[in-house]
Amino acid sequence: MDAPVHVRPQQFAVEDDCLQLGGLALTRLAERVGQTPFYAYDRGLIQSRIAQLRSALPPGVQVHYALKANPMPALAQLMVALVDGMDVASGFELKTALDAGMLPSNISFAGPGKSDTELRCAVAAGVLLHLESGAEMERVARIGQSLDIRPQVAVRINPNFELKRSGMRMGGAALQFGVDEDAVPALLERMGRLPLDFLGFHIFCGAQNLSPSAIAEAQAHSVHLGLRLAAHAPAPLCLLNIGGGFGVPYFPGDVALDLAPVAAQLEQSLALLAAVSPQTRLVLELGRYLVAEAGIYVCRVRERKLSRGAVFLVTDGGLHHHLAATGNFGQVIRKNYPVAIGNRMRGDSREIASVVGPLCTPLDLLADRLELARAEAGDLVVVFQSGAYGPTASPAAFLGHPAALEVLV
Ligand SMILES: *Cc1c(COP(=O)(O)O)cnc(C)c1O
Repeated sequence: MDAPVHVRPQQFAVEDDCLQLGGLALTRLAERVGQTPFYAYDRGLIQSRIAQLRSALPPGVQVHYALKANPMPALAQLMVALVDGMDVASGFELKTALDAGMLPSNISFAGPGKSDTELRCAVAAGVLLHLESGAEMERVARIGQSLDIRPQVAVRINPNFELKRSGMRMGGAALQFGVDEDAVPALLERMGRLPLDFLGFHIFCGAQNLSPSAIAEAQAHSVHLGLRLAAHAPAPLCLLNIGGGFGVPYFPGDVALDLAPVAAQLEQSLALLAAVSPQTRLVLELGRYLVAEAGIYVCRVRERKLSRGAVFLVTDGGLHHHLAATGNFGQVIRKNYPVAIGNRMRGDSREIASVVGPLCTPLDLLADRLELARAEAGDLVVVFQSGAYGPTASPAAFLGHPAALEVLV
């Protein structure tokens, strides 16, 4: 059987053999940016992705953006108008969301090990805190008392089930995230004696999932779990954040997520909530699904090098800007992201080449023996599916090369 190959991402047009982004030829965009390497995010693609998502999902479902996928300030500002809320996971992300103009009441703050300073800022801002432990609940209550503010809280649950076939597992095991399902009733009982406003639950059990049936199953379990545990809560269940985990196709053989089965399940969940808990808002929190496919990473070929018959395109970009594309951010077996020569999409001739960066480590590999247009020094290498977990998920200081710029086009 032949190994699966990449389907070239179709979201960007090609004119005169050159990739186009936001109505600009890539070569022109590179001049406009003024340097390589850079990341470019297409605002039109982000808008249409969210519009398509909303038309596929039942209208009662709220969509939040998980800012850690891409916290570029201009992009965060764009998101404010497109989503119902933002989920942040650090004090700095909280500041980014507030600066972008997100209403505090539509911001939630999750993550283990929040500092007292982060908790104070969040309580003062009036955002929702996703409690990750009983100890954190006690700290939030004390901080609320010292500020004379009643903090709004939700409990993040580590469920007994998992989101099957996830690229990253974040529930259903011994984990640093959330409160074990079995410990939640006792925690809620304690909460009833603290000056805290209970709003609901947060259940996030996996990421980068391309299986609609696995997602639908985990979401159905999450709704049932939330309703069951709400019986122990000190106040009505106003909010049920059932995570997301919607994946995007990165690797050969990956197929884009079919939303129809997920939407059908959400319809049922909404009907159930309407019947037994009508005040409950159902929230999905999505990161990469909203932004990954709208972004590219661009670097320039510095040298074409032959070693024992193999072609290496040595570029000015690499692992220090785009750890995920080198396979070192959560991949078990390294696979190639989709890559092309942006100014020779088809090219006059094609060859098998590897794309590497300037770092002194064999890990600095953006493409491993991929079929590409034959490239020369000066050509532009494009890594697709790069709008999420790019610069902020990469070790920019490693070896001290210049940082990549980011533009929203
Ligand atoms: C990282 C994270 C997300 C976003 O994950 P994606 O795979 O980018 O959709 C959502 N919620 C929580 C709690 C997270 O930690």
